[in-house]
Amino acid sequence: MQNKKRSLTGDRPTGRLHIGHYFGSLQSRVKMQEDDSIERFVMIADVQALTDNFNNPQKVRDNVYQVLLDYLSVGIDPEKTTIFLQSMIPELAELTVYYSNLVTLARLERNPTVKTEIAQKKDLFGESVTYGFLGYPVSQAADITAFEGELVPVGEDQLPLIEQCREIVRKFNSIYGETLKEPKAVLSSNKRIKGLDGNEKMGKSLGNAIYLSDSEEEITKKVMGAVTDPGRIRKDDLGNPDVCMVAYYHGLFSKDEVEKICEECRAGKRGCVDCKKQLAKNIIEALRPIREKRKYYEERPELLEKILKDGTKKAQEIAKETMRKVKESMKLNYFDE
Ligand code: ATP
Ligand code: MG
Repeated sequence: MQNKKRSLTGDRPTGRLHIGHYFGSLQSRVKMQEDDSIERFVMIADVQALTDNFNNPQKVRDNVYQVLLDYLSVGIDPEKTTIFLQSMIPELAELTVYYSNLVTLARLERNPTVKTEIAQKKDLFGESVTYGFLGYPVSQAADITAFEGELVPVGEDQLPLIEQCREIVRKFNSIYGETLKEPKAVLSSNKRIKGLDGNEKMGKSLGNAIYLSDSEEEITKKVMGAVTDPGRIRKDDLGNPDVCMVAYYHGLFSKDEVEKICEECRAGKRGCVDCKKQLAKNIIEALRPIREKRKYYEERPELLEKILKDGTKKAQEIAKETMRKVKESMKLNYFDE
């Protein structure tokens, strides 16, 4: 179909996916499957994962299948969404090289997302960051444009990266002629889910997440350790749900009750322990169908491999076609007819 718009999203296989991904991105990807005017692609970004896990290839490899399981368990349907593996598309690396001429070091260093992430990765990078990590927004621009992704549903932390991609596209088109499509970020209403520790972002590399695949015991344990109002010591102290992570997650998992819960907390009529138990129960119930679906796929490794292979094959064909256009525009089409 010619007039279909393409959407591209992806996740780094640096860990299993968590409820931040669910509310921030996965839910809207599943919903998008109902829209026939969109052709959907989801990429497992193993090359990007290596930018800060280059010394841990086994971790990345293991998590490719974990992320695939997460996708399938939340309802990303391989019949409706092409799921593929980044490292199996060499055109993405090739495009990255060409795009790297179109962005300055200063611009990359100013990117707020990259800046925050470098600061969080002091253990890995010390005082000097690698070329690969600093340049990952360029590689991300290659991913998006290779599939002519016009719609990119992402969390808020990704906005500066999409902006960077748009700049590269404009620059490319102005120098080499109109070739690439400018993408647009699509933000879900849950732009950024906070961590159990109160951090502004739940992140798989931040150790503050409830994973979609966590067991009932793990969920309970994590919820019991979530950050609550530090000013509240005894049960009848008046609470402030605005600074409490438990109240915050009640807002996601106990929608019908959250108003009452916060009222009781403010009035000092609700103990934190009971409040946490109630939350843990609601999260366990909400994630039950996801856990069950995951189990189904976990028991079928051949099916998992087939899904990933078929999706990657389809993605390879599209990336090849974009590469052909790009090389033609850049006058690099040497041996073509
Ligand atoms: P890492 O810490 O390894 O970078 P991550 O948790 O940030 O992992 P990514 O794979 O980098 O996950 O991001 C995948 C997608 O999920 C992105 O679109 C990102 O915006 C979104 N996302 C990640 N964390 C959250 C969150 N806490 N709330 C909303 N969206 C999120
Ligand atoms: Mg991230």
